[in-house]
Amino acid sequence: MKTYLVGGAVRDELLGLPVKDRDWVVTGATPDEMLKRGFKQVGADFPVFLHPDTREEYALARTERKQGRGYHGFSVYSAPDVTLEDDLRRRDLTINAMAKSAAGELVDPFGGREDIRTRSLRHVSEAFSEDPLRILRTARFAARLQPLGFTVAESTMALMRQMVAEGEVGYLVPERVWQEIQRALHENDPGTFFDVLRECGALKHIIPELVPDESYSAALSALRCVHSIDGDTSARFAALMSPLASDDASNRAVQLKAPNDCQDLARLTTGLLPKIRSMTCHHPETLLGLLDEADVWRRADRFLVLMGALRCALPDTEQSKLEWLESAQRAAAGVEAKELMQQGFKGKELGLAIRNERLRRISEL
Ligand code: ATP
Ligand code: MG
Repeated sequence: MKTYLVGGAVRDELLGLPVKDRDWVVTGATPDEMLKRGFKQVGADFPVFLHPDTREEYALARTERKQGRGYHGFSVYSAPDVTLEDDLRRRDLTINAMAKSAAGELVDPFGGREDIRTRSLRHVSEAFSEDPLRILRTARFAARLQPLGFTVAESTMALMRQMVAEGEVGYLVPERVWQEIQRALHENDPGTFFDVLRECGALKHIIPELVPDESYSAALSALRCVHSIDGDTSARFAALMSPLASDDASNRAVQLKAPNDCQDLARLTTGLLPKIRSMTCHHPETLLGLLDEADVWRRADRFLVLMGALRCALPDTEQSKLEWLESAQRAAAGVEAKELMQQGFKGKELGLAIRNERLRRISEL
């Protein structure tokens, strides 16, 4: 039995990047032998084990063959006669299909090192087209490695276009799509993820509302802005959706099965933007209405995130409207229900008194 470091760790080491987690491939072993050595089996579908001390993942070398369409249709074959090269061949990109032996020798049957040198994201083999998730992974690696000068190889882009044309993207389950989007939103250059999806035609299937040039460039510039202020996932997603009509943004967020905070912020951002843009003066009733809609009184933290997304979605000429909103929020935030209750207000009257007091304070600005 032999053990090799594989995948991301080998790639990142060659790139001089910090290695996050290390994955290993084991050849010439059976599951029984692994269990006898104290490894714990974790994979239900694949023979994957955890090292008893390091907790790192050790997978028996395996091959995968497509059965049916989409992501789920794989049959896995693992046995002591599966070679390291067989295992590397099933991987997506050449830069992810290298291994390193215990002696430190690089095993690189598909030219990963050369593709690192030429900054190329290239598919390992035509089997790439068996899994549409690889389109999203490739776009995500492009987003991560763009600052180092990586681009998608022309032949890989052509293959991805063909996969899209054959309807492969339609077989992806929303959960996997969202997982890739969520990760992509936090990569070094998130916009590149969407550039690659647009170029191969996949964007039309994933977020069709963003395909028109005008929406697309507005979405990307808002996203770039939120990235520069290190916004959280919900702010990034809301910025991306910000050029869309509120109903379109909400429906898309639901279809993507985005988590609730992302759905909420996208809906709020796109709902408030046209109202903020149509404000022409500092009108207390309008400002209070917007703050109520944002539920700032109960959701002060979310208001901060929302303001980040709005700031990134509004043109420079309209930023002052957000300052009105912020000062209105600060002025009205000090209204205490308790004080008004001590003055004898209760029930419906209390709600009205709170509202009037907020309005009064906003009007004083
Ligand atoms: P990261 O730094 O994001 O963890 P990684 O390269 O380690 O990058 P993982 O998603 O952890 O990526 O997967 C580990 C390895 O498994 C990859 O390097 C790649 O060789 C292979 N791999 C993962 N998913 C796929 C897939 N859908 N198709 C083909 N190969 C894959
Ligand atoms: Mg990894």
